[in-house]
Amino acid sequence: MATPVKERAKPRPTAEFTPELVYVEPGALEYPKGAEIFAWVKESGIPYRMTTSHNRITNLPGETELEQYKIAKRTLVIGVRKTLTFDQSKPSAEYAIPIATGCMGHCHYCYLQTTLGAKPYVRVYVNLDEIMEAARGYIQAREPELTRFEAACTSDPVGLEPITGSLRQLIEFMADQEHGRLRFVTKFHHVDSLLDARHNGHTRIRFSVNSHYVIKHFEPATSRFAERIEAAGKIAAAGYPLGFIIAPIIWYDGWQDGYAELIAALARSLPPGGVPNLTFELIQHRFTKTAKSVIERRYPRTKLEMDIDKRKYKWGRWGQGKYVYPDEQAHALRMHLTEQIFAHFPGATIDYFT
Ligand code: SF4
Repeated sequence: MATPVKERAKPRPTAEFTPELVYVEPGALEYPKGAEIFAWVKESGIPYRMTTSHNRITNLPGETELEQYKIAKRTLVIGVRKTLTFDQSKPSAEYAIPIATGCMGHCHYCYLQTTLGAKPYVRVYVNLDEIMEAARGYIQAREPELTRFEAACTSDPVGLEPITGSLRQLIEFMADQEHGRLRFVTKFHHVDSLLDARHNGHTRIRFSVNSHYVIKHFEPATSRFAERIEAAGKIAAAGYPLGFIIAPIIWYDGWQDGYAELIAALARSLPPGGVPNLTFELIQHRFTKTAKSVIERRYPRTKLEMDIDKRKYKWGRWGQGKYVYPDEQAHALRMHLTEQIFAHFPGATIDYFT
């Protein structure tokens, strides 16, 4: 008689982010959102300190740089966004809309490790009305062309949504903009508060997904694959335009099977009738020399392959270039992913491979 397969306990849901330490800019408390978040901090008994500026958090606890980094990832700063000039965000959108900076996730390859440098703490901006007014100006300047705003360039805003509620407001603001569109990408599944938001089809939500191997080895402190997919199903059912970003696409032993399984798992998990207007964005793994040295310090045991001798150097427009896969490998990754995607999702669009 066959031995009964022991039933696996269902893993616990990935918890919502609760910071261990909070810094507050006094000016932030003059905004309703700042006052509300601060009230929640006090009610929750989270230790807090006042700070003169969200750009100058100098006294983080921790003896070593690594300890401080880990604590920073669990530190929330409630601030006011003073710079209301938006950065460009090619190729996925025209502009990055700044509602938060920093992330509690620990993805080894994350580019925020270098772009945020010594400021890896999580900042949320409470002057959302001013940020939305700035967005309105950008939209008007480009009319009648559409202007797309990416809300996840410097953070993972879904992971912060239970604290800020900013995405919901932004979604409803963009629903009323004939020429404005919002998009964001996430590795978190905390989307329930967005499901009944009035979106008017103007917000595209994308989930960042990857093979089992990549998620297991390189994406600690984010929602599990199954949670992201369940959330994607809810987003599709709520009528939002939906997409997936597969990034970073990594070459490892068994990558063909890993990525084939990923696409098959997506197809199994989505509504049987399919998702209209589904998009994919494909980004191969790349790193700079600076990123490599930061990652090796922060995640000294990472299995992330960053051997510059195995890579192709791609010149950067603004200074430091990046190491990508050599053309032959990049081509193989692109072809395999493309074939798998169109085999399972014949109506989908691949926006880009980079
Ligand atoms: S979830 Fe996204 S923003 Fe956060 S650490 Fe991972 S890659 Fe970076």
